[in-house]
Amino acid sequence: MPNLSPKKNSMPSQDPKLRARNFDEVALGYTAEMAVEEADRCLNCKKQLCVEGCPVGISIPSFIQKVKVGEFEEAYRIISEASSLPAVCGRVCPQESQCEGRCVRGIKGEPVGIGRLERFVADYHNAIAPEAPQKPVSNGRRVAVVGSGPAGLTCAGDLAKRGYDVTVFEALHTAGGVLVYGIPEFRLPKAIVAKEIDTLKALGVRVEVNTVVGKTVSVHELMKEEGFEAVFIGTGAGLPRFMKIPGENLKGVYSANEFLTRVNLMKAYRKDSATPIQHARRVVVVGGGNVAMDAARSALRLGADQVYIVYRRSLDELPAIR
Ligand SMILES: Cc1cc2nc3c(=O)[nH]c(=O)nc-3n(C[C@H](O)[C@H](O)[C@H](O)COP(=O)(O)OP(=O)(O)OC[C@H]3O[C@@H](n4cnc5c(N)ncnc54)[C@H](O)[C@@H]3O)c2cc1C
Ligand code: SF4
Repeated sequence: MPNLSPKKNSMPSQDPKLRARNFDEVALGYTAEMAVEEADRCLNCKKQLCVEGCPVGISIPSFIQKVKVGEFEEAYRIISEASSLPAVCGRVCPQESQCEGRCVRGIKGEPVGIGRLERFVADYHNAIAPEAPQKPVSNGRRVAVVGSGPAGLTCAGDLAKRGYDVTVFEALHTAGGVLVYGIPEFRLPKAIVAKEIDTLKALGVRVEVNTVVGKTVSVHELMKEEGFEAVFIGTGAGLPRFMKIPGENLKGVYSANEFLTRVNLMKAYRKDSATPIQHARRVVVVGGGNVAMDAARSALRLGADQVYIVYRRSLDELPAIR
């Protein structure tokens, strides 16, 4: 008999009053007992709508069945067949509109906490990290990946598992793309991203940071002189778009991109950071999407007393809560 609770096992998390003033991760993760209990809510459906909702087609019911019986490492193996970044995806994938958005348990109650289970399995694996994954047999073919965001890393991981010799070129000094410069530490600790990248390195992926492809080395040079047979370009969309209104250049006005990069990548919230940020008591965030929320929550954690979200449409239309 499955666990018929209409609600997901709740996620242990930091006290709201405390977390509003620190950069530590908000969600603390399931214990093994909580994970098994939540896995027991899965009906192991014949028609696997959750899998249809997953962009990379993780065999969700199969990994959940393994969690149910405590075979967490086997669950990890199943997830890893389709995903190169399970600890990241378990934290920041929009499950509510993907796998969980399709889960049949969501019709009469809350869907199975697929993301929470994925996160638990990945963290369990990373905590015991038995040994580095075995390096696949090389097929002798070289591929260059430009950009080390989730797109580039996923491409690198998938190719490495198939035996390709992959080098990722990253313009910044740290690999991870938005995972390190955009998404705040309190939603996605940077140590988690580093660990996932280490797993890819163990599969044979090389990562070259401080390399701006197009400036440091051209695509032509990569292919004609360095012997790469193919180049995957995963350079993201990192440039901010300004509103072109008076006052945008005033001191104290930041694009979300610059603000979050200073805070997340350059750790401006630490006293020892070499990249400062202007601390403000009253902050206005223009916009109502997830990036705006990350900026607002970061401003609060930097010490602002009041943070206002200014959005052009109604509260009901705020993208972050729709
Ligand atoms: C603040 C913020 C929060 C977000 N939160 C979420 C979330 O919770 N869930 C979610 O699903 N999505 C979220 N997103 C969206 C998500 O992060 C992006 O969709 C995703 O990062 C895109 O991945 P990418 O690999 O294509 O690009 P990016 O992550 O932007 O990575 C591109 C990389 O390419 C590098 N690069 C660029 N040009 C060159 C060059 N010439 N040579 C070498 N390297 C280069 C960049 O430095 C960067 O590291 C968020 C985005 C932002 C900005
Ligand atoms: S749809 Fe929900 S209940 Fe059905 S197999 Fe997927 S996770 Fe389990």
